[in-house]
Amino acid sequence: MSHTSYVSVEPTWRREALLEALRDPAAVLRAGGTVAFPTETVYGLGANALDPVAVARIFSAKGRPSDNPLIVHIAHIDQLVPLVRELPGDVHELARVFWPGPLTLVLPKSDLVPDIVSAGLDTVGVRMPSHPVASALIEAAGVPVAAPSANASGRPSPTTADHVRHDLEGRIDMIVDGGASGIGVESTVLELPQHGAPTVLRPGGVSIERLKAVIPDVRALDAFGGTDDVVAPRSPGLKHRHYSPSAPLWLFIGDHSAQLEAMIARADAILSEAHGKLGMLISDETAATLENSRPDLFAAAVATGIAADGGADGAADGAVAAADVTADAVAIARVGSRERLEEVASLLFLRMRELDQAGVNVILAESYPSSGIGLAIMNRLVRAAGGRCVFVQHQCRK
Ligand code: AMP
Ligand code: MG
Repeated sequence: MSHTSYVSVEPTWRREALLEALRDPAAVLRAGGTVAFPTETVYGLGANALDPVAVARIFSAKGRPSDNPLIVHIAHIDQLVPLVRELPGDVHELARVFWPGPLTLVLPKSDLVPDIVSAGLDTVGVRMPSHPVASALIEAAGVPVAAPSANASGRPSPTTADHVRHDLEGRIDMIVDGGASGIGVESTVLELPQHGAPTVLRPGGVSIERLKAVIPDVRALDAFGGTDDVVAPRSPGLKHRHYSPSAPLWLFIGDHSAQLEAMIARADAILSEAHGKLGMLISDETAATLENSRPDLFAAAVATGIAADGGADGAADGAVAAADVTADAVAIARVGSRERLEEVASLLFLRMRELDQAGVNVILAESYPSSGIGLAIMNRLVRAAGGRCVFVQHQCRK
């Protein structure tokens, strides 16, 4: 156990003020310690990427399997060259368009990068974050910073300093609190092989559509493809359990209205069998439909406080009292509107953690269209479900 200290900064501060405020965490990084910090995707747990002993502390703090490679974060493009053996032609254009930002490039690694960082692979994932606090911290440290998401391995990624504290307090040296991460899902991991097409190993903050505009031959898998035989050996981290709340999560896939019907049927079955507390991870639209069609379920959930936050107007006092459903039987976590998938991405992991806090025993989750950031959302939900997918029938309409 180590003592975890805290530093608070505002991302809106001027660069000089940030560099000054981040002197201590930068010194901790240079001295071989571990520092959690905000990025525009999720919070990262950083250590000096060139120091294998420091990097080992990341793996032990998180309980991360040693075959899951880390992404190396840089603040300036000059820091890329020493880390890689070669720079394929596309790198320049991709870096120009997407850096700083949520795109990780997997490139042939140089000998400077310790094997522990790349989990023994001969490639290294590199990214230049756009978050002002992440960027200033890396610059102040003066070294490239290896950083996976700052959660205990397997848990949903942290989007606030408080999530990091919950998972890693006493296991890391420092937490830099810089407010909530904006995007809410991790970076897109893009492999640029010496031979063959660029391949998205993990969908994330940069959509396939945007990548295609720059590299039309990019290969990508659907939301279920993360464990595909082709990709798994090249991105070993993808085979591990990920992003999971403590309660088992069932993901409903298919026609939207059929999803809701199937979810309600499953909810009723769970509640009637007294399987403990039920969690629902749903959109604003689904919550509104549920409020109309099943006010008893909705009213029971409002009592948890989760649905009440921005919940449908009047739900708390207007809804019909539950007949069979006790007030703390259901927790509804709303992830925002299906019309604004960016909002869903930013709230997804936060809501999973809130459902855990509410003490639910099972979670029923809705699925989303796989376009734009939706592909990353679906990839995380499929992994959180770990095989518990319910495929509902598409409805035939005349
Ligand atoms: P995390 O930072 O916790 O989101 O995990 C980093 C992700 O990037 C994992 O899924 C890794 O498998 C992937 N990754 C990092 N470096 C490489 C690499 N050299 N080759 C393939 N995938 C990588
Ligand atoms: Mg992670």
